[in-house]
Amino acid sequence: MRYYSTNGKAPLASLEKAVVKGLAEDRGLYMPERIDRLPDTFFDSIQKMDFHEVACTVADAFFGEDVDRDILHSIVCETLAFDCPVVRVEEGIWALELFHGPTLAFKDVGARFMARLLGHFRSGERLNVLVATSGDTGSAVANGFLGVEGIQVYVLYPKGKVSPIQECQFTTLGRNIRALEIDGVFDDCQALVKQAFMDPELNAALTLTSANSINVARFLPQAFYYFWGYAQMKRAGLADNLVVCTPSGNFGNLCAGLFAKRMGLPVRRFIAANNANSVFYDYLRTGVYSPRPSVRTLANAMDVGDPSNFARIYDLYGKDWGSIRRDISGTTYDDARIAETIRDVYGRTGYLCDPHGACGYRALSEGLLPGETGLFCETAHPAKFKDTVEPIIGSPVEIPSRLQDFMRGTPEKTSLSKDFGTFKDFLLKVAGEE
Ligand SMILES: *Cc1c(COP(=O)(O)O)cnc(C)c1O
Repeated sequence: MRYYSTNGKAPLASLEKAVVKGLAEDRGLYMPERIDRLPDTFFDSIQKMDFHEVACTVADAFFGEDVDRDILHSIVCETLAFDCPVVRVEEGIWALELFHGPTLAFKDVGARFMARLLGHFRSGERLNVLVATSGDTGSAVANGFLGVEGIQVYVLYPKGKVSPIQECQFTTLGRNIRALEIDGVFDDCQALVKQAFMDPELNAALTLTSANSINVARFLPQAFYYFWGYAQMKRAGLADNLVVCTPSGNFGNLCAGLFAKRMGLPVRRFIAANNANSVFYDYLRTGVYSPRPSVRTLANAMDVGDPSNFARIYDLYGKDWGSIRRDISGTTYDDARIAETIRDVYGRTGYLCDPHGACGYRALSEGLLPGETGLFCETAHPAKFKDTVEPIIGSPVEIPSRLQDFMRGTPEKTSLSKDFGTFKDFLLKVAGEE
């Protein structure tokens, strides 16, 4: 399978190149040349398969031509060392819980897959992974790559804008993981990473790769759990007229769901739930995409003002606003509504949403039509946002032991300004030495 750039001005790339480069030469995002429809027989029997069988079938469709079958299947099974169960919240609304991995958020899936695929492709040279994070990406990538031979990871995060629990998940690991605290917002971190890939001097000195959701090895594997969510709903007899809602920031997760639909997954439609950063919601309403600086919200992993994967969605639907609107609707919730939803759902049903999942739940509760069943991605464990959630519900949130382990470590970080020159000098000096 070859990969083309959404900007259309870069040569086609192999999977290896797309994974190592992350971004195409023309700054576009890589897209697979084909999206194969899975056979009807797969969907007829999907409810009898287990998670690994479902995921391996999906992985074969994307990566089967480029990675030896046994290696690919072991990468898939090692990646999915935890379940993504569906849990009933109330009549007609279910949560697809994506937080059972090591860092308690869905990004574990893409990060673990990418680390293993990159490890497989790495041809002996030292790789430097640059990742910008608004919180959860950094921890998932750092943990996914921890201890992977020959790969050095730099996590860039906005100073004071990630929760202490999120921060300790990438500052306490040590080994091949370095945390860089940037004096700016998430978009500044993302801009630094993007600029680094375009800098000739830096790229001559170091082999750089991205682990942001723009990387095909991170976003495509997220399709696995949409199929698995469907399989479980089908087993429960609830898969007819299924509506899937994805709380979205950079839109990698939703994009993977849209790919799954293109592969034949019988999802009726998708809802993209946003916090107050409503660039995509506004696009759906007006047909005009106008990025703007992100604002800070309770659902901080979705504080994105210019979602990278918009380019992929736009491309997937032939740049046609009408087609996009046929498959996806949008919602936007301010912090007051997010808090109200967490409190209300917990009070009525006992189900505790995190601030991101709360947007997903609310979009379904307001947007489902008669006869539809809703499944929202519960993208993180509420304990990751303990400081937000506890005052809202007025009682303590228990921290799972795998999260407590991070908090016992010693944090180490390097503070940098958002100036590209400073960042570049740092990389040249430090990466040269490591
Ligand atoms: C990253 C993240 C999101 C947003 O996902 P995108 O793929 O960037 O749209 C939502 N919720 C949580 C908890 C996240 O960590």
